[in-house]
Amino acid sequence: MSTSLITAKKIKIDLFSDTNSEPSLAMRQAMCTAEVGNEVAGEDPTVNRLIERVCELLGKEAGVFMPSGTMCNGVSYRVWCSRAGDRIFFDQYSHSAILEAGLPAGLVNATPVPIECHRGIFNAQQLLSAMGDKQGYNIPSPSVISIEQTTNLGGGAIWSLSALQQIKEVANKHKMAIHMDGARLLNAVVASNISAKDYCQYVDSVWIDFAKGLGAPMGSVLCGTQSFVDQAWYYKFQQGGAMHQVGILAAGCLYALENNIERLEADHLNAKLLAALLSEHSNIQISPEDVETNIVVFKLINTEISADEIVIKLRNQGIRLLAINRITLRAIIHMDIGKKDIEEVAQKLKDILDHKM
Ligand SMILES: *Cc1c(COP(=O)(O)O)cnc(C)c1O
Repeated sequence: MSTSLITAKKIKIDLFSDTNSEPSLAMRQAMCTAEVGNEVAGEDPTVNRLIERVCELLGKEAGVFMPSGTMCNGVSYRVWCSRAGDRIFFDQYSHSAILEAGLPAGLVNATPVPIECHRGIFNAQQLLSAMGDKQGYNIPSPSVISIEQTTNLGGGAIWSLSALQQIKEVANKHKMAIHMDGARLLNAVVASNISAKDYCQYVDSVWIDFAKGLGAPMGSVLCGTQSFVDQAWYYKFQQGGAMHQVGILAAGCLYALENNIERLEADHLNAKLLAALLSEHSNIQISPEDVETNIVVFKLINTEISADEIVIKLRNQGIRLLAINRITLRAIIHMDIGKKDIEEVAQKLKDILDHKM
């Protein structure tokens, strides 16, 4: 991160990520009074209650509490890739492909295979051509397919049930596992009115993140069969993820499950509003109908102004968003962002493009 970003003035409107949403007072109070025990011994009653609730929600047999989504991805790939060199398939811009410090190669010893696709969603044909049809001692096993629900850099797009089903058919045929990075699975559930269980019926491992739009300070729950979770525990331990009186954190996650799911709809409406306002400007390319959840990815066209320049100018106004590349920007909406904030961001962006700022 450049120093100009660090020394700029305080951030007022933070659209960099929904991880930047802050735990509410009520959530902190629930955390304060949580019953706790030793998590690694299975003795934390609040953690156990959280796991039970998430298993029910996702329709999975077993689960394990994790400090982060990144660890859920690493542990899952470790379980599914039995030999060094095994192949993991994912969208080329997926979080675990490019934003997790080289985790597939660095931690799992796997061969990451990026798939070129539109908005982070690939079909059976694209997957099969990435897999190739070669076999032999020199070909690493295709072990796991990782999909992001919703897609992060893909702009919050939702994998439909039929898109998942065609990937499942390939997976069955080739005896591969499907892993769902469900950092924002509940955004997909709220936006589509399709249950988490329905989405998860096609996948072997799945996790949800409480630190994103659900507003908890940290925590994820990773689910699958009992046998998957037994193996996941081994790698969780190996990676330093075995914890102690973390019922205090699980209580924040339980609070989020009970109070912060339905309100995601408000974030989706605000994301649509931002897209609609931005689409009014001729230097911005965005189709409001592409905004399905809480992420708005848009492009700059016919302008010399770069995405980085926009980020710095907005940052000086107390607004933060992410430049994905020279012409692409991302804004993520969350519970600390209101309609007025959206209007302010859109107006300032337009002013910058019109050289008024
Ligand atoms: C944020 C995110 C992660 C990582 O989650 P952490 O809890 O920050 O480690 C993984 N995948 C996607 C799609 C994400 O957006």
